[in-house]
Amino acid sequence: MKTMKKIKMTTPLVEMDGDEMTRILWKMIKDELILPFVDLKTEYYDLGLPNRDKTSDQVTIDSANATKRLGVAVKCATITPNVQRMSEYNLHQMWKSPNGTIRAMLDGTVFRTPITIPSIHPAVKFWKKPITIARHAYGDVYRDVEIQTHEPGVAKLVFEGASGERIEEIIHEFSGPGVIEGMHNTDQSIRSFAHSCFKYALDVKQTLWFATKDTISKKYDGRFKAIFEEVFQEYKEAFDAAGIEYFYTLIDDAVARVMRSEGGFIWACKNYDGDVMSDMVSTAFGSLAMMTSVLVSPDGKYEYEAAHGTVTRHYYKYLKGEETSTNPMATIFAWSGAFRKRGEIDNLPELVNYANQLEQACFDTLNEGLETKDLVSLSEGVAPKGLTSLEFLREIRARLGKRLGA
Ligand code: NAP
Ligand code: MG
Repeated sequence: MKTMKKIKMTTPLVEMDGDEMTRILWKMIKDELILPFVDLKTEYYDLGLPNRDKTSDQVTIDSANATKRLGVAVKCATITPNVQRMSEYNLHQMWKSPNGTIRAMLDGTVFRTPITIPSIHPAVKFWKKPITIARHAYGDVYRDVEIQTHEPGVAKLVFEGASGERIEEIIHEFSGPGVIEGMHNTDQSIRSFAHSCFKYALDVKQTLWFATKDTISKKYDGRFKAIFEEVFQEYKEAFDAAGIEYFYTLIDDAVARVMRSEGGFIWACKNYDGDVMSDMVSTAFGSLAMMTSVLVSPDGKYEYEAAHGTVTRHYYKYLKGEETSTNPMATIFAWSGAFRKRGEIDNLPELVNYANQLEQACFDTLNEGLETKDLVSLSEGVAPKGLTSLEFLREIRARLGKRLGA
């Protein structure tokens, strides 16, 4: 250990600290797996709820601006306050979700990928490799207006252009009560979504699928299809060079194909499809504790995090002095993802290698059946041993040290 020179960084990562059990894990991961091996450079932002309250949430805005400037961030899970948290933390205001604020500022798309290991079998037997879901995070039914009517009448869709142009369509002539829904999206948001998807596909060298219902929704879904096709022209050459494809199909065909596929691709989904399908895919792959997440902006800024929350129930046990067996995998992979990206951008092969070895050390440990308790009931074909978080991290550290020759 003494002989090993720590791995150098040139540009700092944006480090966004968080809340509760994940904040405890955050420090353990740094102490056990990062600081012994890396000459860590970060620009630190404390997004823990007390500091968000103290700074009137300015710290969240600052951290998003830092991500725009430096390009790569790693984020710990954070509490999104509700009524109960208002009194628990004595808050001045019910602050908005930091993830929502950061996503809006970066205009980004979230890509969620399961971490797969041989001993945990997906519920869908054909799936051999992870399926990444990219959900469009703006508009459609999430920004709709709705009317419930109680009598016969006519519903119309009207657009009044800034130029004075007027477009009017009859939605339906009601002979009795009914419901009406108006929704929208913007070319700009769809275009940003498309850029984020194509950039990320190139980044991880995986084929990109996209699906809508454009046979029925010819203008609305048709616009999504057309914009993706148009934006793809900018990436086509790079896709060919990387040996990956852009594949468009109808949403029902996509669902059927996903179920019969081996995995190993990115599935871009419209907002509602992504909401529903990401829950299906993540549940079928096994565990929320084994799901990573990265926010990618259309101009190529990256924010890595775990998909799970702050694991409150475990935190209350921890506060009582109990050792917990909280799974740190997704948070470790947020760090490794950020180091790998930083290493690629700054041309630091040693940092990229560290990220790869860190992930491999995690797999070595899990493949020997050493795991946190949440995985024990999911594991097949190994005799699993349930460890505390700290024991698990120390096993990973030992294997990482060997791999790095430290
Ligand atoms: P959660 O923190 O993901 O935890 C839900 C349950 O899932 C846990 O109680 C635990 O089950 C299990 N679990 C999740 N992650 C685990 C891990 N790493 N290891 C072991 N088990 C794990 O979700 P929540 O309880 O709904 O939310 C708690 C707080 O997190 C909320 O304040 C919410 O606002 C916040 N949140 C933040 C983010 C984010 O920052 N990205 C995302 C979601 C939620 P058992 O209790 O059965 O062991
Ligand atoms: Mg959902």
